[in-house]
Amino acid sequence: MSKLTGKVALVTGGSRGIGAAIAKRLAADGATLAITYAKDASAASAVVKAIELGGGKAVAIQADATNVEAVKGAVEKVVATFGRLDVLVNNAGTAIPKKFEEATLEELDRVIDINVRGVFIATQAALKHMKSGGRIIMIGSCIGERNMTPGFVPYSATKGAVKMFTQGLSREVGSRGITVNNVQPGPIDTDMNPVAGDSAVLQKAATALNRYGHVDEVAALVAFVAGPESSYITGANLTVDGGTNA
Ligand code: NDP
Repeated sequence: MSKLTGKVALVTGGSRGIGAAIAKRLAADGATLAITYAKDASAASAVVKAIELGGGKAVAIQADATNVEAVKGAVEKVVATFGRLDVLVNNAGTAIPKKFEEATLEELDRVIDINVRGVFIATQAALKHMKSGGRIIMIGSCIGERNMTPGFVPYSATKGAVKMFTQGLSREVGSRGITVNNVQPGPIDTDMNPVAGDSAVLQKAATALNRYGHVDEVAALVAFVAGPESSYITGANLTVDGGTNA
């Protein structure tokens, strides 16, 4: 038996980048997977196919994190399809890098809507179905605690909100046997933060390991937090950042 056999996990924004790696890793550990995506149906179905090829079970659901009904509907669909929900990974997120004073209200609203409001909505919907042993896992950011990179002020503020959301919620649901933790990646090479991007040199220099991280390095920590061995960890902010915040 694998560590997550019999468990059902939902990863928001699981069609690319860190979310896709998390979905594949949780499936490799035995979980049945649901992923959401906003736009790219073919990327989402490629993740589902990869999981199925590995002998796992998965489904992709279109649900923009800014759309309340779509997010609630995705959670209900997971439970209707697989009968339960054990692990929610709030991974969908966005950054709009620019100087704070140049950001429009629409841009500020979008970052808040996806990174904070979307997390609130998905978590509330998931908690209706979660039983003892449940796991709520946020994908925050190392810059939710310390910010050394100009251009990410609103993003950093939303990830700081995710940090405190994690800590507060852990105390509300702990008595139900549900843990709530925040995995905080450092610079990880994805479409959102490519190793060849504008601020990549700065971000790489800020790490102790002098390199970007790989999506699988984040997925490994999420798999641990989702699994049975993390049963006494809750309300924690766990960085996987190559030493950026050291
Ligand atoms: P990517 O941009 O590479 O992938 C984003 C994923 O989220 C895609 O699957 C995308 O699907 C989905 N997505 C985007 N917008 C929405 C939305 N409105 N509703 C639902 N799904 C959406 O991002 P990363 O993999 O880099 O980032 C994943 C998470 O990790 C984010 O929360 C990010 O803040 C966090 N993070 C990333 C770091 C990095 O260096 N990469 C560092 C620290 C934290 P689609 O293509 O269909 O839109």
